[in-house]
Amino acid sequence: MREYLLYIKTGETTAMPAQAYVTPCFAVDQSFWREREGCRLHVIGRSPSLALVFSLREAVNARLQERRASSQPWSEEGLSELRQLAVARVREANALYACEAGSAKPLGRTWFTWEDGEGAVRACRSGELWPESAPLADSPTADTSIRELLAGRALLWEELVTLLGKQDVAIEEPDLMAMLQRMVLGERAEWRPGVCLSVAKGWRRRLDLFCERCGSGRRTMELTVCHTCGQGCAYCTACLGMGRSKCCTPYLLVPAPLLSAGEQVEARLAATLDWNGSYSPAQAVAAEQARRFVAAGRPGLSQFLIWAVCGAGKTELLFPSIAEALSAGGRVLIATPRKDVVLELAPRIQRVFPHARVIAVHGSSPEKWEDAQITIATTHQVMRYYQRFPLVVLDEADAFPYHNNPMLYRAVARAVQRGEKLLYLSATPPRYLRKSLVVKTTGMLSPLFARPMLKSATHVLLPGRYHGHALPVPQVVTVQGLHKRLRTGRPITALLELVRRCLESERQLFLFVPRIEDVDRVVYYLASFFPDAAPSVAGVHAADPMREEKVRAFREKRYRLMVTTTILERGVTIPRSDVAVIGAEAPVFDEASLVQIAGRVGRSADDPAGTVLYLQADRAASPRAAVRQIRRMNQLADLLRARGQQA
Ligand SMILES: [Zn+2]
Ligand SMILES: [Zn+2]
Repeated sequence: MREYLLYIKTGETTAMPAQAYVTPCFAVDQSFWREREGCRLHVIGRSPSLALVFSLREAVNARLQERRASSQPWSEEGLSELRQLAVARVREANALYACEAGSAKPLGRTWFTWEDGEGAVRACRSGELWPESAPLADSPTADTSIRELLAGRALLWEELVTLLGKQDVAIEEPDLMAMLQRMVLGERAEWRPGVCLSVAKGWRRRLDLFCERCGSGRRTMELTVCHTCGQGCAYCTACLGMGRSKCCTPYLLVPAPLLSAGEQVEARLAATLDWNGSYSPAQAVAAEQARRFVAAGRPGLSQFLIWAVCGAGKTELLFPSIAEALSAGGRVLIATPRKDVVLELAPRIQRVFPHARVIAVHGSSPEKWEDAQITIATTHQVMRYYQRFPLVVLDEADAFPYHNNPMLYRAVARAVQRGEKLLYLSATPPRYLRKSLVVKTTGMLSPLFARPMLKSATHVLLPGRYHGHALPVPQVVTVQGLHKRLRTGRPITALLELVRRCLESERQLFLFVPRIEDVDRVVYYLASFFPDAAPSVAGVHAADPMREEKVRAFREKRYRLMVTTTILERGVTIPRSDVAVIGAEAPVFDEASLVQIAGRVGRSADDPAGTVLYLQADRAASPRAAVRQIRRMNQLADLLRARGQQA
């Protein structure tokens, strides 16, 4: 079982303020501080509970600060008071944990064990050898290669061991621990417990738990008796899919240093863009505006939004920005919500940047622990990066799972190197992004007439499609008793009309439904009205084992009508297709989702028109808002074209 020690470092003079530290191997800290003049180390105590020792460090540091503020000199009495403070806090944590843990029972007599520093170990003076501290076997080469492997990562202990194993680095646990602790003392890394524990102040004392990895709070924590640490221990259920973040697991954060000279040369070479496509005038402006944002040096994390309607050719707009970041000698991360998109994007990016190493990172990816100039990753994998990339592109910021998910936003912001760039790419940016990044013109008469500007230092708006045709404007139809009609097989005129037209004109049709159980119902409904077309109707949802096969068959036109939940809302492009949403009033269809669905239609230049039908059981706000947004984009695109013609 690992043990963690809490100690205080004091100086001979008041110039060096007293400070508390946690260490998994005191010998490392002793040899580290010995090199500095006049340090003294005073042990407060030790415990197998990492989270507990960290929370005691906070309490002790707060007390030290109070003393400094009232100019109290350091004294032996002060030290014993701090030890008493620690003991009192441990007792309190034990009592609170017992209250909250409910039916769980501690392994020993208490939830947390604490061994007081006095008597057990004594403080040591600088220059004095600690009897336990044998000289450490230092191997600078192993240190350097491990440091390089960990640079820019945020990993739980188990992940760290996996990464080193995959890279064939053999190192014993105590040596690794010692090496990492040297990095921490040298301020090249930080570490914390996976889940932090603290006692919240307020009128009633209570236990507060916080996941350092995903930022979740008490609500998602499961309290347990842990067989690893033998203590009271909590784990986070919010990020459980990425491995167990818990109170006793060390969580290491290593910011990436700037690339070495050699790596910078490689990155510059990788910046060669090999693409013979061309931009429309509006696309060229947007791509250049984004590139300028990447090239401009600004202090602090800066953010930029490319707001481009569905079918505007978003990926191509990124090429100059990626080339710019690479030629400045840095790495690029593109984070996207879905694994399918990662797999589709990686070869496309590789083709246009043939000299760059491009990797696709998702849950089961073999390249997960590797390094590259361009990394394309699913959102959850981004959680494992820390201050690594000068440019992070967040694709489809409005999509599940980012939408309303502070955990993933936090992860993305942390992957950006300090003071560098975050670029959002979206067809339907969420309100708060529009509010913070999109500059509006001032309305002549009232703010109601204000419209988004086409570009500013923080955004660029591309309201038109690459082929220059307008977005199809959806028809909204309210059908009395819509769902009952589906169940009982009574006709829904608007829907049957659309299906008939599609079948007659050799077009394909997406039929979106709000719930999985609606899929079969609609398939059955359509087959009963169009028995001849029954073999070309299919239904699909997220958990469907035949999902990929069915989507492929739809792409190959073996199916003509595809009934689907929102899983096909984005990413799938089928030329000559129309769209119907059945039950557009359902909450899963918000404004952004309905705009994305409408965006499936008319994407190719040889078939830019098509039908979008929103069927609602009663009047709802989202379908109307989606139509308004599409109309506004078309107006802006017209304006842009008119200006282009004037110029
Ligand atoms: Zn978590
Ligand atoms: Zn534990």
